[in-house]
Amino acid sequence: MTEKILLVEDELALRETISYNLKQQGYEVFTAEDGEQAIEQARSIRPDLMLLDLMLPNIDGFEVCRILRREMNLPILMLTARSSEIDRVLGLEMGADDYITKPFSMRELLSRVKAQLRRLRMIRNEMEQQAEPQPETKPVLTIGNLVIDTFRREVSLNNEVIALKPKEFDLLYYLATHRRAALSRDVILREVWGWEYAGGTRTVDVHIRWLREKIEDDSANPNRIVTVHGVGYRFEG
Ligand code: CA
Repeated sequence: MTEKILLVEDELALRETISYNLKQQGYEVFTAEDGEQAIEQARSIRPDLMLLDLMLPNIDGFEVCRILRREMNLPILMLTARSSEIDRVLGLEMGADDYITKPFSMRELLSRVKAQLRRLRMIRNEMEQQAEPQPETKPVLTIGNLVIDTFRREVSLNNEVIALKPKEFDLLYYLATHRRAALSRDVILREVWGWEYAGGTRTVDVHIRWLREKIEDDSANPNRIVTVHGVGYRFEG
C-alpha cells in the first residue's frame, strides 16, 4: 500500500524539494500552500501523515492542527523554524506527534517520516489484533495506588482516572515496565518515540514534566519519576 503524505509548506522551493524527496521514497505526495488548502486536502485525501509548516498564510499550523485533530486521527509532523515553539507544538491543545526544526537535512526529515509511518503501521496492526478482545488476558499493571490498564489505555491514581495524552501513556508504561532502572533520555526517546535520530531529547523532558504534574503528589519534588543526574530518569513506583 502506498502511503499518502500531505505536505503543507508555503515556501515554494522547500515544498518542491521535500515533495521530490518523498516521491523518490515511493510515497504518494499531495501538497498545500496555506492553512485553508491544508484542511480541505486533509478532509478529502485522508492522508496517512501530514507534514505541517507552522508559519503559514491565513490559517497557521497551530490552528490547522487543532481543527484536524478534532476530526481525524492523523499523525502530524510539524515543521518549525523556532525551537521556542516546541512546548506549544507538543502541547495539549494541539499535540503534534513530532516536530522537526528548520533548517533540517532531508535525510533527517525522511527518517522522521519513516519512523512516524512505521509507528502508524504498528498501531494499525495492533488494532486489527484487538478486533476480538480477550478480556481475561488484559494486562493491568498495579504499582501502589497507580494502576496502568494497557488494554483500555487508561491510568488511574487513587481510583481516579487521569487524562493522559497517548505519548504520556506510552512513556509512563515504558517507565513502569522498567522500574528502578536508570534510563537515559536517548534510550527513552528511541523506545517510546522510535526516532532513529536522537536529536530531540528535550521532548522527553517536556513529557516527563507533564507526567509528573499528573502523577506526583508534589511535581517539584517527585518521588515516582526521579531524575538521575547526568543520565536521565528512573521510575521508582
Ligand atoms: Ca512558512
